[in-house]
Amino acid sequence: NSSGVQTSHWPKYVRVNTLKVSLETAVTSAQSFIGSDNVSLHTALDNIMAISPTVNNLYEWDLVKSGSVVIQDLSSCLTAAALAGGEGSTHWWDTPKMNVFLDACAAPGNKTTHLAALVNQNLSSSKSSNKVVALDRSGDRIKILQKRVSLLAPGGVVEPLHLDFLKTESNDSNFSKLKAILLDPSCSGSGIVNSPDRGGEEDTPERLKSLSNFQLLALLHALSFPQVEYVAYSTCSMNNEENEAVVSKALQEVNEGLEGGEVWELRRPKVLDTWTRRGKAVEGLTEEQANCLCRCNPFEGDETNGFFVSYFVRAKVDRNEEK
Ligand code: SAM
Repeated sequence: NSSGVQTSHWPKYVRVNTLKVSLETAVTSAQSFIGSDNVSLHTALDNIMAISPTVNNLYEWDLVKSGSVVIQDLSSCLTAAALAGGEGSTHWWDTPKMNVFLDACAAPGNKTTHLAALVNQNLSSSKSSNKVVALDRSGDRIKILQKRVSLLAPGGVVEPLHLDFLKTESNDSNFSKLKAILLDPSCSGSGIVNSPDRGGEEDTPERLKSLSNFQLLALLHALSFPQVEYVAYSTCSMNNEENEAVVSKALQEVNEGLEGGEVWELRRPKVLDTWTRRGKAVEGLTEEQANCLCRCNPFEGDETNGFFVSYFVRAKVDRNEEK
């Protein structure tokens, strides 16, 4: 590949789609299809298998064909994990009534369907399922998402909508039970090293500027929904300009405009507490804030694509005490 990073020794990551199959069933099936020696459970996150790099026939496995497991890079699993597991094991969304999540830039839907699986893991007859509303402004891409959803997350747990997130309004009837937004907007893709083609566009300063302008607008829009209390923002970019800089500008701008003793804070997602590679204290972020952020860096030895994830919580503060 053009990045120069050797990826052939990386494990192949497989996410168990708990909407369709249990972890135990998936592991037993993997062991019989691939051989026990080639299958292990990843320690960073639940329900992720690390398959030996020598295995080359994963697409022939019936659980892949049926959508019971999903071939998905570990890095790409961090965003939904952060949003669903940010507060630890007592999940705010684990209630009898439905909670709505928004995936604002959703296609092709890997993170959407992961989130839908995570927030519906304790379903019982006395509970309504939680729903993920999945937006994309591209008509072609929302069709791809729809296909993925009918295979991976059937039964109405995901509602695809062909909409431009920047044109949505918080009082839209789709958003009345909305509490949390997953935002994984278009980015340079400079962290994608395990694919021969990541779009082909050069990271010129102009392109980075236009991407980071859009990312900031989208993040500020997500933080502007008054009913939303949790936001996860991620990119598969290595560039500070699309990552820490966007987070830092958004925090500053949104908190200047907030009233009523509320403030958006960066938090360390509890589910990623032991994740070692953290964000950078550049662009106006403190060390403590940078330590809330998670990164993946294949150029420094991580066996995943490059990635960045941040997790925001709307908190109450007494602004007088703050001073
Ligand atoms: N989260 C997806 C996943 O894991 O499968 C990948 C999302 S991809 C990085 C970004 C997506 O955002 C693209 O499908 C693009 O069409 C969509 N997008 C870009 N601008 C948008 C906007 N203003 N509103 C909604 N979707 C947008």
